[in-house]
Amino acid sequence: MISVEEAFRLVAEHVGPLEKVVTELSQAVGMTLAVDVKADRDSPPWRKSVMDGFAVGAEDVGEGKKLQIIETVTAGNAPTKIVGPGQATRIMTGAPMPEGADSVAMIERCKVDQDSGVVAIDLNSIRPGQHVLGQKANFAEGEVIYRSGHRIRDIDIGLLAEIGAAQVEIFRRPTAAVLPTGDELVDVSQMPTGPQIRNSNGPMLVAMLTSRGVQTLDLGIGRDSRDDLLAKIKRGLESDLLILSGGVSAGTLDLVPEALADCGVEAVFHKVKMKPGKPVFFGVHVRDDGRRGYVFGLPGNPVSSLVGFRLLVSHALNRMAGSPDMVKPSMPLLAISKEHSTRGDRPTFWPARRCTTEAGQAVEPLDWKGSSDLNTLGQAEGMIEFPTPGKTYQQGERLPFWPL
Ligand code: AMP
Ligand code: MG
Repeated sequence: MISVEEAFRLVAEHVGPLEKVVTELSQAVGMTLAVDVKADRDSPPWRKSVMDGFAVGAEDVGEGKKLQIIETVTAGNAPTKIVGPGQATRIMTGAPMPEGADSVAMIERCKVDQDSGVVAIDLNSIRPGQHVLGQKANFAEGEVIYRSGHRIRDIDIGLLAEIGAAQVEIFRRPTAAVLPTGDELVDVSQMPTGPQIRNSNGPMLVAMLTSRGVQTLDLGIGRDSRDDLLAKIKRGLESDLLILSGGVSAGTLDLVPEALADCGVEAVFHKVKMKPGKPVFFGVHVRDDGRRGYVFGLPGNPVSSLVGFRLLVSHALNRMAGSPDMVKPSMPLLAISKEHSTRGDRPTFWPARRCTTEAGQAVEPLDWKGSSDLNTLGQAEGMIEFPTPGKTYQQGERLPFWPL
C-alpha cells in the first residue's frame, strides 16, 4: 500500500495540462489562465478627477479668492479649455482633468454664484493633486496583470474587463462522468425500502465537479453486475475523467477494478495509506485516438469518497489546469482546540471546524462517527490531518488543515 505522498506524486506524474483554448470572458470563471494577461492601456488612461467639484490650480485657492468657471466636464467628455490663473472647470467624478489644473476642490466645499459664474472655495489652501488620480496610477499599458496559471475568480472579471480581455486563453474545461455503484442504491427522489439507501455520492460528486467548472455527465447508478458496469464504464471513458464510487474494496461484489481492467484501464494504484479512503483506485486509459482519460474509483462510504476527491481528484484537476505542483500540497498548520487520539494504522483526515480558544484561532475536531457520517461533515469546514496513528495529540498542537 502506498503513502498519501506517493499517491499525489503518481497522480501528478500521469496527469498533465489539457489543451489551451480561447474562451469568452463571461465563460472563464473558475478556469485557469494559460498565458500572461497584460493591460492594453494605462489605468487611469489620463489624469482623472475622483470627486465632483472644481478643477483648479492649487496655488489659486486661498482665503477670499474667487474663480471664474470656464466650462463643465462630465465623465465621458473631454475638457476643451485650459484652466488659467483665476479660473476653474466644473468637473464630475471620472472625468479627465483639464490642462492647467492640478487639484479638485470637492463640491461640498464650494459656493457657486450662478449669476456671475464664479466659485468661491471655503478652504485656505488645497493640497496639490488633491482628489486627482494620476495617469497609470493603477497600472500601465503592457504591464502583466495576471500570470499564466492564475485561476480566474469571480472578483477577477472586473479587472479583466477593464484591460479589454474580452476573450482569454485558458486550459480547456475538463469533462467528467460520475458513476456511483451499488445494488443497495436508489435515486434521491425515491424512498428506500428494506436494505436500500439513497445514492448520496452521485449528486455530491457531480456538485463538486460542477463547482470546479468541470462539464459533468451523471451516468446514473451502476449495479453490482459485470455487464452493467462494463456498459456504463465504457460511456464514462469518453470523458477526460471518470469518477466511480463504491465497489473498490474487498467485498464479494467489489467488481470495479476488474471491470475497469476489462475496459482497458491501466491501474496506477489501488489502496492508499489513509483514513478514510484506503481502497481508492487510480488508473489511466489511453483511447484509440491517443487521448488520455483518468479514472478514480472512490470508496463507497460518502466521507471516504469526499476525502478521496478533496485530496486526489482535486490534485488531478489542478494538473489538468496546468498546475506545476507535483507533490502533496502543504496546508496551513492550525492549533487543535482539544486533545485528540488517533487509532488504526494509517494517517487520518478528521472533520473539523474553526473555533476560537483563549489562545486564539484554532480548529475543533468534531465528534465524527466514521466514514458513513455525513451529518458531522455537514458541520465541518475542513479536515485536520493527523499523520501518526495511535497517538494522542495535545490541545494546541499545530496540524495541517485541509479546507473543504
Ligand atoms: P462499497 O465501497 O461499495 O463497499 O460501499 C461502502 C459503503 O458505502 C456501503 O455501506 C455502501 O452502502 C455505501 N455506499 C456505496 N455507494 C454509496 C453511495 N453512492 N451513496 C451512499 N452510500 C454509498
Ligand atoms: Mg458496493
